[in-house]
Amino acid sequence: MPKKSKSSKAKKSPSSKAPKYVYSFGNGKADGNGKMKSLLGGKGANLAEMTRIRLPVPAGFTISTEVCTYFYDHKRTYPPALDKQIDEAIHKMEVAMGKKFGDLKDPLLVAVRSGARDSMPGMMDTILNLGLNDQTVRALAERSKNERFAYDCYRRFLQMYGDVVMGVQKRPGEEHEPFEVVIEELKKELFPKDPHVSDTKLDATALRTLTDRFRKLIRERTGRDFPENPREQLRGAVGAVFGSWNNERAIIYRRKYNIPHEWGTAVNVQAMVFGNTGNDSGSGVSFTRDPATGEKVLYGEFLLNAQGEDVVAGVRTPEPVLRLQVEMPEVFRQLQDVRHTLESHFHDMQDFEFTVEQGRLFMLQTRNGKRTGFAAVRIAVEMVKEKLISPDDAIRRIPADSLSQLLAPVFDASARKTTQVIARGLPAGPGAASGKIYFSANEAEAAAQRGEKVLLVRVETSPEDIRGLLAAEGILTARGGVSSHAALVARQMGKVCVCGASELQIDYSTNTLHVRGQNFRKGDFLSIDGTTGEIFPGEVKTSPSDVVRVLIDKDLTPAESPIYRVFAQLMQWADQRRTMDVRANADQPDQVGHAVAFGAQGVGLCRTEHMFFEGDRIDHVREMILAENADERGKALAKLLPAQRSDFAGIFKALKGLPATIRFLDPPLHEFIPHDEASQRDLAEKLGISVDRVARRVKELHEFNPMLGHRGCRLGIVYPEISEMQARAVFEAAAEVQAAGIKVRPEIMIPLVGFPKELELQIALVHQVAARVQKERNVKLSYLVGTMIEIPRACVVADEIAKSAQFFSFGTNDLTQTTLGMSRDDAGSFLPRYQEEEIVRQNPFAVLDQGGVGKLMETAVKLGRATRKDIKLGICGEHGGEPDSVKFCHQLGLAYVSCSPFRLPIARLAAAQAALKN
Ligand code: PEP
Ligand code: MG
Repeated sequence: MPKKSKSSKAKKSPSSKAPKYVYSFGNGKADGNGKMKSLLGGKGANLAEMTRIRLPVPAGFTISTEVCTYFYDHKRTYPPALDKQIDEAIHKMEVAMGKKFGDLKDPLLVAVRSGARDSMPGMMDTILNLGLNDQTVRALAERSKNERFAYDCYRRFLQMYGDVVMGVQKRPGEEHEPFEVVIEELKKELFPKDPHVSDTKLDATALRTLTDRFRKLIRERTGRDFPENPREQLRGAVGAVFGSWNNERAIIYRRKYNIPHEWGTAVNVQAMVFGNTGNDSGSGVSFTRDPATGEKVLYGEFLLNAQGEDVVAGVRTPEPVLRLQVEMPEVFRQLQDVRHTLESHFHDMQDFEFTVEQGRLFMLQTRNGKRTGFAAVRIAVEMVKEKLISPDDAIRRIPADSLSQLLAPVFDASARKTTQVIARGLPAGPGAASGKIYFSANEAEAAAQRGEKVLLVRVETSPEDIRGLLAAEGILTARGGVSSHAALVARQMGKVCVCGASELQIDYSTNTLHVRGQNFRKGDFLSIDGTTGEIFPGEVKTSPSDVVRVLIDKDLTPAESPIYRVFAQLMQWADQRRTMDVRANADQPDQVGHAVAFGAQGVGLCRTEHMFFEGDRIDHVREMILAENADERGKALAKLLPAQRSDFAGIFKALKGLPATIRFLDPPLHEFIPHDEASQRDLAEKLGISVDRVARRVKELHEFNPMLGHRGCRLGIVYPEISEMQARAVFEAAAEVQAAGIKVRPEIMIPLVGFPKELELQIALVHQVAARVQKERNVKLSYLVGTMIEIPRACVVADEIAKSAQFFSFGTNDLTQTTLGMSRDDAGSFLPRYQEEEIVRQNPFAVLDQGGVGKLMETAVKLGRATRKDIKLGICGEHGGEPDSVKFCHQLGLAYVSCSPFRLPIARLAAAQAALKN
């Protein structure tokens, strides 16, 4: 719920002492401007700005977000001064448009739209054609000499008003909107042979019948009459738009995109212009560049003889805007000018809505366009080359997370060739996705929770499907265009999306999809290519992206891949600006190789236990665990030593002189031993011991809270021979690789330290082994020994710990777990509810809890530096690849972040963004 506003910030209205709540625009003048997004919302601010730069914007006014705040603070009522300010603004709009609201000769109609500070496409409500009633519709018919048009407007208005303001919506169990059902019924009566005729086939009489039936439907469902008085209509519409700030889908959207609930929305009231007056009119949504690929072309859609809602709602499939070149060449030329004006004014790719009324172009909205990760990188890099923005701007504006799309898989070319395309739709969100099909958002969500890969298949998606979109790998629809809400949201989420595949016959009642003679049932596999729009039966193998092919697989050259080249340029700019290093969490030599290719400047965490599962190593590990005494344990460890040594040598070689932080054994030992009887028997046989002994040892190792049990450095304290073996493996490998002429920089890291003495004991042991190996091999090795900081005690005694630790690496996975007292493995059962209740904004295991865990980190940094001024500081928990957490680490002054190899580009960009902020 929006918090109390600081209304003192608002300007005073000239006509009274009250704060200014309403901002007019029209005729080249505007009270507001493009910078006032927090007060006027993105849409309102840009309408003002477009008016100021003399783009053709119909007059109107914006009711500020402060009114929304007031509305929620005062039991859904308005500031007393608002009504008068609205009356004044209506008057100005009437003067600008030369028409009057509610007039019986030439009525002014208005659109009422939401507009938050950040755009939330389709999440809130809109009402068009407001001002119509049984009288004004006749005036509109006469004035326009177009009865069909007037009744079309009226029926649309009734439909929107009935739905949004009066709440006539689908009831539980109903698959279709009630107004759509009324339309379908009328079509069946009028066109029994062809009941699916387009809406444009309904003539004036049919539309008038519809308006009667709509009013009847409203009365039946609500017990109230539709209000005839335009001012009353406006009051209802404004309330509904403010109310829609807190509808479920808007709340989910804000949660996903971290939009604060207290921002509130503005309401824009704007004179209507009509795209539905005939074939010299229409509505469109366009982008100044292609939002999927970033190509510099006018891109978008247009519907002849239609209002804007038809384009974005995805109900009719529109035509490409380029067709206007043929159909309305003059409008097309103007659009190209507009495109140029918008980009040179806003310095970013714009997504704009326009209407053509009898050959005249009007601008209804512009905003920075949502785009895929591919497009974000290409547009930013190309705009730098076009001198529209600077490299710093380019870095700032690309959401670091979106780079993950550039690394996402595409369909494997050979698998793709052998699979027949069963249908095509519009390519709306790039990438390749395969999954089991589900026909409702709920079922898709449930299946994804069961761990299935899911494709959400819908006739058309509406914003209510957002939960399903979130859960699915990809979205496939039979209707709707590339700028439908579903497509916008999918692209922003980086989901694969194919829409408007009109050949698909989807039957919700039987959960089946029929296409070109083939039937697919719920749970069957389909594959979609959101880059080409192709749909394939079954599961098609995917293959790596261009970036991966150039950097890792090396079967593509930079010259062959434009997307790689813009990616590389961006990374170069980012690397020049960031001050933090990036390292990778990698445990195997080949992984380390990939990490270096993605820009790693070292390994920040090598989890040695990950090496224990290869080949027959696990048997030696188990033998070690089951050992009854140090002697037996020593024998088993001796078998593990060569394997660990060769892995470390491989890592050092792959790093070519870059540092490697190697962590000693960390997890509870029971994770390595078999718990079922058959596997215990198997192991007993292999080790030549009795099953009883295995079973007894397993029982002895049982722990009630293993995560808080015998793990981390506690293993090395109780069984020093384990640490000794690991230290020996590190130093022998180091000696071997150094002898081959490659620089080696091992950094041994002791996990889960809370008491300074724990670390001191382990460090002493490491030094002893190092001395021994150096003597045996007659070499000099340079190395560091440090610790993970991953339990709260370590943070508050960091000054003591720093006496022996040469470096700290924050293990924020465990530090989050221990600070919050929330099991990192079990929190999934209650965290979603915690997020819904806004106890936590984000999952603290994904996004660092700066207010809690972050405070402990700050303490540790301060205390650690107090003891050892130049102590090396890093992070290796999962948060090291999450943009906001990376920025926090920069502020803390950490030397590096370490994350999984595929998140390195994200970390590099986020670190550069953090550096620019300073
Ligand atoms: C951590 O706790 O943050 C960490 C990196 O170690 P692990 O995830 O292996 O416990
Ligand atoms: Mg840990």
